[in-house]
Amino acid sequence: MNDAAIRLAHGSGKGLQELLDEVVLPAILPGRGPVLEDAAVFDVAQGKLAFTSDSFVVSPLEFRGGNIGKLSACGTINDLAMMGAIPHYLSVSLILEEGLDIGLLTRMLSSLRLVCEEAGVVIACGDTKVVDRGKADGMFIATSGIGMVPPGRALSAGNLREGDAVIVSGPIGQHGIAILSQRKGLRFASQVVSDCAPLNGLVEALLSAVPQTRALRDATRGGCAAVLHEFADASKVSVVVNEAAVPVSDVVRGACSFLGLDPLHIANEGRFIAIVPAASAAAAIAACTAHPLGEGASIIGTVTARQRFGVLMKTSIGGSRPVDMPAGELLPRIC
Ligand code: MG
Repeated sequence: MNDAAIRLAHGSGKGLQELLDEVVLPAILPGRGPVLEDAAVFDVAQGKLAFTSDSFVVSPLEFRGGNIGKLSACGTINDLAMMGAIPHYLSVSLILEEGLDIGLLTRMLSSLRLVCEEAGVVIACGDTKVVDRGKADGMFIATSGIGMVPPGRALSAGNLREGDAVIVSGPIGQHGIAILSQRKGLRFASQVVSDCAPLNGLVEALLSAVPQTRALRDATRGGCAAVLHEFADASKVSVVVNEAAVPVSDVVRGACSFLGLDPLHIANEGRFIAIVPAASAAAAIAACTAHPLGEGASIIGTVTARQRFGVLMKTSIGGSRPVDMPAGELLPRIC
């Protein structure tokens, strides 16, 4: 079946059973028994649950540094981690287009499973639908995730206080530029690799070093600028970013200026913004940079009392300008 393509007959009955038994389940749940129930049932410890949901429509399905399968696991795992939750369970819903290459589907699902294994997450339930040719651009994936928030953790966008330090966990803009350069055939940016990665391990390292961390958010659609605006508005403060301190690779910077884009607006899939008390900033940087996914973590700014603009940039030449919230859908189908 691996050489074949998805047919409408794979959408129900015997065809669906075959697709699940021969392709989907071996790829995401190898070694699992044959019994499938209507819902996953599991024990819960006392405490707080975190629950999140996301859908993935990225184009192209495979990109440098990842694919829709990896992305759909990382995106949901990261949203749980940003609330300080330990991710435990994932649901995976597949919408497959008639004609989709089954070998490609198997690759996407294997990537998804590898991320879950790396992150210690169990794929607990899922669904598979098949739609007509031309209706799903290959495949879409929707994932939901459940995690447990350890006692004492209460991260929130509303927690920022004047004087706090603003940290980014690594060089920004790689995911968006990797996708865009592939889509637009920008040869000069062809070595940019997406940052797509599960961040729960890095978050645990940060939170054990700096439990007083105020807020975390992954800088996905809308990039760092959107996260900083959301934080500033939720906490009724402003954030001043020091342009020279923002980690951006030369090639991402070059691609952004070529395309007329601000690196702060570009989507990441493996970077977060952390807000920590100023006194803990050095400890936070040390914890992040000791982890492979936090290399290049930097203090990029400070929280101030609310000013006219929520987010301001102190430019390298000594001036200051407001940083806009990205307008509308800057780069469609980026995640
Ligand atoms: Mg998020």
